[in-house]
Amino acid sequence: MSNPSGPEDASPLPPAAEEHFGEIVAGIEDYAIFLLDARGYVASWNAGAERLKGYKAEDILGKHFSLFYPPEPLERGWPEYELKTAAQTGHFNDEGWRLRKDGSRFWANVTITALKSPTGALRGFLKITRDLTERKQAEEALRQSEERFRMLVEGVQDYAIFMLDPEGYVISWNRGAERLKGYQRHEILGKHFSIFYPPETLEAGKPAWELRQALEHGCVEDEGWRVRKDGGRFWANVVITAIHDKEHVLQGFTKVTRDLTERRKIEMLEEMDRQKNEFLAVLAHELRNPLAPIRNAMHILEAPGADAATLGRARVMTRRQIEHMARLLDDLVDLARLNRGRFGLRKEQLDLETVVDHAVEAARLDCEERQQQLSVSLPAQPVRVFGDRTRLEQALGNLLNNAAKYTNPGGRIWVRLTSTEAEATVRVQDSGIGIEPMMLPRIFNLFVQADRRLDRSVGGLGIGLSLVKQLIELHGGKVDAFSPGRGKGSEFVVRLPVAPNPQTPQTPEAPDAAAEQTARASGPAQLRVLVVDDNVDAADALAAVVHLAGHAAQVAYEGSTALALAPQFKPHLVLLDIGLPGMDGHAVGRALRQRPETKDTVLVAVTGWGQAEDRRKSQEAGFARHLVKPVDPAVLKTVLAELTPSAAGEG
Ligand code: ADP
Repeated sequence: MSNPSGPEDASPLPPAAEEHFGEIVAGIEDYAIFLLDARGYVASWNAGAERLKGYKAEDILGKHFSLFYPPEPLERGWPEYELKTAAQTGHFNDEGWRLRKDGSRFWANVTITALKSPTGALRGFLKITRDLTERKQAEEALRQSEERFRMLVEGVQDYAIFMLDPEGYVISWNRGAERLKGYQRHEILGKHFSIFYPPETLEAGKPAWELRQALEHGCVEDEGWRVRKDGGRFWANVVITAIHDKEHVLQGFTKVTRDLTERRKIEMLEEMDRQKNEFLAVLAHELRNPLAPIRNAMHILEAPGADAATLGRARVMTRRQIEHMARLLDDLVDLARLNRGRFGLRKEQLDLETVVDHAVEAARLDCEERQQQLSVSLPAQPVRVFGDRTRLEQALGNLLNNAAKYTNPGGRIWVRLTSTEAEATVRVQDSGIGIEPMMLPRIFNLFVQADRRLDRSVGGLGIGLSLVKQLIELHGGKVDAFSPGRGKGSEFVVRLPVAPNPQTPQTPEAPDAAAEQTARASGPAQLRVLVVDDNVDAADALAAVVHLAGHAAQVAYEGSTALALAPQFKPHLVLLDIGLPGMDGHAVGRALRQRPETKDTVLVAVTGWGQAEDRRKSQEAGFARHLVKPVDPAVLKTVLAELTPSAAGEG
């Protein structure tokens, strides 16, 4: 635009520029390109403008450009604002609805450029407008569809649907997720999704594994226990899908979780039902099996001409079959009592090697009959544990019995007892049929038998190992099974806590060992003391102190067990934890009071609460004493001593 501006300038542009400009833009159809004068009146008009806005040049030239605006921006003074800004800054860009001549709207992209003379005087504006209605509509349609989809996902109640960022942090949350997992959106956004997994799954590295699988395969489906906000568990079916953008950059993961707890429960019930039916069939078989040989033996015993050797064999056979049946029935009774929580232990300080020795001697005959070599190794030092002799012998007996049963004639069985300061270990190892790796984790479950094809004269009821596990755990111990595989022998390892040395005084106030020995030897009349506490260690420790003080102790880990034990044990004194789960100590105390055998039993509350109010409550509930945990052994001994004459006198 070389034309110098002169004082004659009434039009916005020098005439030559206008002409030039007109030539260039006149034919352009896709853009409305036109000039405004400095006040906003239309000064030129091209084909595109006519097509876009519907005005012919003669209709619009000299009209103010605010004609193109719908009422709402007009009211805001938008056209004036646009020109003012363009005049000040040189340019103005905008998008918005504009009007055509026929009143219809289109979505316009607008650029306004201020035109100035070399001296800087404002001459007018160049306005370029594009119709972006189609793009706008497509964007709007997409936005609406996204919004509908978002609402759909958010509203879904039965599925937790949410997104994780590439590192596994939660970035979206729907109503189903809120309902299923218990977290509100604001509580969970930004938290890592591993929060939904129980500890054992976390340890196994499950969350990271799932994301890796989703990355590798696009998608992963998994089932397992998950944890709600309140700590409750549910059985979840989970599908995780990796989300990539067009350039294949990972954007994150979608996670869809369903609660299948009900289905899982039904499956578990069906499985239990199946196991129960199978158990009944095995039980019927096992109980009938010994009858045939016993009947035969009876026949021989009644036969007139049988010689002494035949009679002897018949008697031995009968005894063996009866013992086998008795063992089965004992196991069944124990199992029923354990399952109903009616299982009391008579715990005392004992030398574990004598327990092992007895169990081995009981098994020896069996092994000899099968020509199995039984080796035993015991430590030189006694290994003290606090436990129930009969029950520990029973547990080891079951392991030895299995070792003999599942080892071919001529095989070997090893029993080894070792101990550290804290732990005693008994290993029962055999050279027998071994256990498949996949069976090992289930072997202690009730009714599980690793090899159903075994001759039924070998197998039992599938409850022996379950009993062993429960008995050992009631002693604060643990039992594990190991086997290199089928045909390669098995090893069962029992670990038990070692009892504290009885010679070591428990506290400075405790009477010295010599005095205690005398007390036990000449001792006061022995008390029968029932210790009730759901904390196994606390109960056992109290019982140990009672025992050391020369009294008889029984332990119950539940209120119902205490009530079941009390009528036979007839305790003089009950050390009763108040905060028991289920039936609390006060309820147990009341129930004991109502029974003829325990109506006069002395009740001592043992609790974590020592406020005056708590003591008053104990007193009102008929407790003679209120001891606060942890109970000082010296205090307990004093209480026992004080109560001895009156209590023990009542027999
Ligand atoms: P059962 O009455 O069948 O012996 P248990 O509960 O004692 O029941 O044992 C469960 C299963 O564990 C057995 O059926 C057997 O398959 C397997 N098992 C136990 N002990 C051994 C062992 N020493 N060697 C090989 N398998 C064993």
